[in-house]
Amino acid sequence: MKHIEAFENAISTIRDEGRYRVFIDLQRHRGSFPRATARFDHGEKDIIVWCSNDYLGMGQDDDVINAMHEAVDSFGAGSGGTRNISGTTRFHVDLERELADLHGKEASLLFTSGYVSNEATLSTLSRILPDLIIYSDELNHASMIEGIRRAKCDRRIFRHNDMGHLRALVENDDPNRPKVFAFESVYSMDGDIAPLEELCDMADEFNAITYMDEVHAVGMYGHEGAGVAQRDGVMDRIDIIEGTLAKAYGVMGGYIASDESVVDAIRSMAPGFIFTTSTCPVMAAGALASVKKLRSDEGRRLREEHQAKAEMLKQKFRDAGLPLMESETHIVPLLVGDPERCKALSDTLLFDFGVYVQPINYPTVPKGTERLRFTPSPVHTEAMMDDLVAALLAIWKQLGLPKAA
Ligand code: PMP
Repeated sequence: MKHIEAFENAISTIRDEGRYRVFIDLQRHRGSFPRATARFDHGEKDIIVWCSNDYLGMGQDDDVINAMHEAVDSFGAGSGGTRNISGTTRFHVDLERELADLHGKEASLLFTSGYVSNEATLSTLSRILPDLIIYSDELNHASMIEGIRRAKCDRRIFRHNDMGHLRALVENDDPNRPKVFAFESVYSMDGDIAPLEELCDMADEFNAITYMDEVHAVGMYGHEGAGVAQRDGVMDRIDIIEGTLAKAYGVMGGYIASDESVVDAIRSMAPGFIFTTSTCPVMAAGALASVKKLRSDEGRRLREEHQAKAEMLKQKFRDAGLPLMESETHIVPLLVGDPERCKALSDTLLFDFGVYVQPINYPTVPKGTERLRFTPSPVHTEAMMDDLVAALLAIWKQLGLPKAA
């Protein structure tokens, strides 16, 4: 292979910086989440997963699995084409209707992932709105950043959740140029929430479109699980809502929900939507069952249990003096502050205690804020939490890590 040294050098830089990623080979077992089996070169180990984004365990839900079985048994595996060329099935159409209805919007559009939905939509907006300026929160997800980078328009980055900074940037620009404010509802690494009402007020003041990623909130917040915008009563003020079917809904795929003409324009113009085979019908069928279930009373009960478990874990970390990064949501981060130690902690938890939590290092989070990010689900028990805290305390002592200030 030509230029092989360049590849080797790139990897060794990543290794030297302690950022080399090792994937854990996991086998989940139907009905026993969050337990799973990890496979290593030297054998297998039963573990408890503490870092899954299948936040509510819907990836193991019987109704979701049965809907997927029925779909695959009746209609087969793949979709057979792009949405335009034979790849639109009844499941795609019904799921888009369901998602539009969930968010109180006229229409929605499915993509193969949440990543693609952000990248494809944001990069296309500038072709629809000449002279556009996109204002982006500095902690926005990589998929939003990629979309905004690819958009042929001016962009401004505002400090995280800093409305004063956003205002200063907007006031510095021509009031007549079209503007988009791009932000998330729940920020996935810190677990904090954007000031939605203030963002919407400012968007009204400056005639800006609001684009919000609800990936870490759909299914989990609001009385039907439509997200933080629904919980806070601002859903109709968010012009474009983007979500995933891969986290709380437990399956795979992404979407936007908005006005009919916005969705129609993205459908007609975004390469990331047009030129790729559509989601497998079986995925759409599973997602549809999941969205419907999480809109029901059973969904509400799951959401309450989920929040209660997250609160319980946070309180246990606080009581144990572990350096919890205070979060407003179901995301429970513990600050480590160093990539090597973060990796050592995660390895010891896995190999000595059967606890799986992936280290979160730069560039996912800023250097010096490396962390372990726990995501308790309704099916994590209090006994599992107590075992986790005991394991953490033992390793904290062993590695001489600082406790909470
Ligand atoms: N937005 C945010 C905030 C995310 O965290 C992620 C995935 N981690 C995505 C979008 C992409 O979603 P998906 O996994 O469905 O591609």
